[in-house]
Amino acid sequence: MLNLCDPRTIKQVMDMFGLNFKKEFGQNFLTDLMTVEDIADACSPDDSDITVLEIGPGIGCMTRCLCERYREVVALEIDTGLIPVLKYTLDGYKNVTVINEDVMKADLSEILAPYFAKGKVAVCANLPYYITTPILMKLIESQLPFESITVMVQTEVAQRLCAGAGGKNCGAITAAIDYYGDAELLFTVPAERFMPPPKVTSSVAKITLWKDKPQKPISEEMFFRTVKAAFEQRRKTLPNSLMTGFSEISKERLTEIIIECGHKPDIRGEKLTVADLVHLSDKLYAEINGGQV
Ligand code: SAM
Repeated sequence: MLNLCDPRTIKQVMDMFGLNFKKEFGQNFLTDLMTVEDIADACSPDDSDITVLEIGPGIGCMTRCLCERYREVVALEIDTGLIPVLKYTLDGYKNVTVINEDVMKADLSEILAPYFAKGKVAVCANLPYYITTPILMKLIESQLPFESITVMVQTEVAQRLCAGAGGKNCGAITAAIDYYGDAELLFTVPAERFMPPPKVTSSVAKITLWKDKPQKPISEEMFFRTVKAAFEQRRKTLPNSLMTGFSEISKERLTEIIIECGHKPDIRGEKLTVADLVHLSDKLYAEINGGQV
């Protein structure tokens, strides 16, 4: 059997199908089988009776490991050129479905409905770096009941995912992730374990989604509007950054609301925890729609 992590084999397979690595699709393939196995193991260590959604199977190295560990695998690959490659490398694997689609355009709820009907679904991927945050936001905002999302991303992004809202390195994505689940940084993977090697170090992070979200804002839409406004102007103080997102409220009133929430008026948005952001968004909701919180 071909070792799809061996650099010579990767090159041979790509040549056989007349393909080059496409930078625009973030094609950096893993060349270390142990790393691939560690990622596949981390996806669902205690339960093999799940379906795994893989985003970007490439030539199928991690796809094979996932097929060997879990009940079923659904792999979404944007690059049409890789579809015949996957047919070749995954020949003999009966529990995989490869779909030639852009994950950002795919109707995940329709694609995954038959698999959710059968049981649990988790996500596992070595994500293309050019589009990591939009993919993660799409996955969590889809509100699909994934068990977990295990992803390899740029280390800087992984640190942001796992920073904990209010902590160092946190951003809007940190607050969104904290709202939906619990993120954990698993391990780091050096650039030389990829072909071609990326310019950055990578890390694997796992987000375990809450079954019942601990924070319940009055309006989820207002919560995300608050998060966006609080983080968009990170260098500004909270009243100033909220002014951009909430132009219907005066700066004086925004400052009062921030003080009513128990914060100093010169606080920056990045210092707020998810609970703080929920409280603030409820106050803003009441201010705009009338009522008390
Ligand atoms: N899984 C393989 C591995 O670990 O070696 C390849 C990972 S490579 C970093 C990213 C993969 O995602 C590539 O196969 C690329 O073509 C695919 N990809 C990029 N953008 C995509 C998108 N929007 N939807 C689906 N797949 C995408």
